[in-house]
Amino acid sequence: MLKVLKFGGSSLADAQQFAKVKQIVESDPDRRVVVVSAPGKRSKEDHKITDLLYLCAAHIEYGVSCEKIFDMIRRRYHEIRVDCGLNTDIDKDFEQIWVHMQHGMAREELASRGEYLSARLMADYLGFDFLDAALWLKFRFDGAVDKEASYAALRRAAEGRRVVIPGFYGAMPDGRIRTLTRGGSDITGALAAAALDADLYENWTDVSGILMADPGIVENPAPIRHITYSELRELSYIGAKVLHEGTVFPVREKNIPLNIRNTNEPDHPGTLIMDSFSDEEDNGSLITGIAGKKGYCVVTVAKTGMSSESGVLLKLLEIVENHGVNVEYIPSGIDILSLVMAEEKAQPCLYAMLGEMQKAIQPDSIKVTEHMAIVAAVGRRMASRPGVSGKIFATLGENGVNIRMITQGPEELNIIVGVEEKDFAQAIRVLYNTFMKERKL
Ligand code: ASP
Repeated sequence: MLKVLKFGGSSLADAQQFAKVKQIVESDPDRRVVVVSAPGKRSKEDHKITDLLYLCAAHIEYGVSCEKIFDMIRRRYHEIRVDCGLNTDIDKDFEQIWVHMQHGMAREELASRGEYLSARLMADYLGFDFLDAALWLKFRFDGAVDKEASYAALRRAAEGRRVVIPGFYGAMPDGRIRTLTRGGSDITGALAAAALDADLYENWTDVSGILMADPGIVENPAPIRHITYSELRELSYIGAKVLHEGTVFPVREKNIPLNIRNTNEPDHPGTLIMDSFSDEEDNGSLITGIAGKKGYCVVTVAKTGMSSESGVLLKLLEIVENHGVNVEYIPSGIDILSLVMAEEKAQPCLYAMLGEMQKAIQPDSIKVTEHMAIVAAVGRRMASRPGVSGKIFATLGENGVNIRMITQGPEELNIIVGVEEKDFAQAIRVLYNTFMKERKL
């Protein structure tokens, strides 16, 4: 059995956190491959190492000295090294990096050093081998990860070893270091798990799994114990922030379960993400999670006879697409349809689009509704169970939330309602309370 673990920045913020990681890794002999982020914040006011490295790069770019910031970084690692009682000679690394910085070290390479140094220290601390991500995580020239080559290289390099791998970066075909997007160590972990056909990918962070709703809106929301990959995709798309977007793909492809765990509460089972669950594993709640996003605008086009006229939708979508705007939802009725778009994208070209729509289909009316929010109730158990949508609409209605739009995905995995932004938080709260109450019955 093989478990691949990824620890996020808060799990590596100082020596105390390093000690927790060690305990977690050593408590299970199957935990043989460890991917680490760079040290994150120790407190709210603190700085992430990666942010400080980017700050150094910006100073260099504008010809301003970054000595003080570089020294802050050096001190953070030095403290961890001393407090963990390690001998790894990171002073030499810092000297080399500093010299390289004076001679045009690329921004991405500089940013990657956060993970590099954190993995060096962690490997020493655990007694594992350090395995540089640049040796196996290969990008193609177009910036995409070359999965085949990367997987084969990691399999060769990690065979029979216990290793610590720095997250967040890999190498271009010419050997240059390239970073993934921010938060990308999640992806490194997922790629490593997929490459090694791991039995489990554990993603260790500072929350006990995915919560049923945003804790900034709902007080103390319950954590989700089991969620499918499809449900997670729905929730993430609509605003729940848990993992880096690209994390799920590599492990899902190989059907490897993903477990989100809390380094500060290691006995908590966290959230398990899989393709499907057996009936016994399900907790019976109809809704798995509720998420939402503000900042939508809706363009509603009405034209008598539109339903029997061909090509109207195509023309409208073409116009929107030509402006580089994505249509998120298309609720429709007879002779009327709405295009729901992110305000941020649509706003700058709204009048141009409306003008083109007017000309192309000559509608009876075009109406724009701004400042809309979308709220999605997501749950695999909603499929073919009557009454869920009724309950959602009744709950919102009883609580004075006016529903402006309703759509449901064809797989019955979600029910999406559009509400005014002022009703957003209230809508999420009342839906959460209704479905949680039901779960307890
Ligand atoms: N350290 C990088 C960041 O802050 C990558 C990561 O932590 O996943 O974005």
